[in-house]
Amino acid sequence: MPRKPASAKGSEADPLYLRIGPCRYELRTVANLAQQHGCTGRQDYNAQRIDIDATCSGMARLQTIWHEALHGIYDGAGVPGAKQNEQMIDAAATGILNVLVDNPWLVDEIASYAR
Ligand SMILES: [Zn+2]
Repeated sequence: MPRKPASAKGSEADPLYLRIGPCRYELRTVANLAQQHGCTGRQDYNAQRIDIDATCSGMARLQTIWHEALHGIYDGAGVPGAKQNEQMIDAAATGILNVLVDNPWLVDEIASYAR
């Protein structure tokens, strides 16, 4: 999967991609998601798509991406959406992001396994 610059945000016309196991999700930054759907992110396993609201930036954007990625991980493991606990997903998303931000050496080590 080709790498894009860290500044890339992905759009509907030029998405980023997020691999979760065998799945390759389109990661798109979309306008008015929060306004129209009341959420800053959404994940669709069948469409293999994650949308992030355009107003979401910085750590809030990263936390939202992790939140939606965790939904994708659970969906891929066969855990239906109704059994996915939003509070637990949010706690894990924030925790994983914080560990990675607080330990950049870990990000570098993980990057050495990038395919
Ligand atoms: Zn959620």
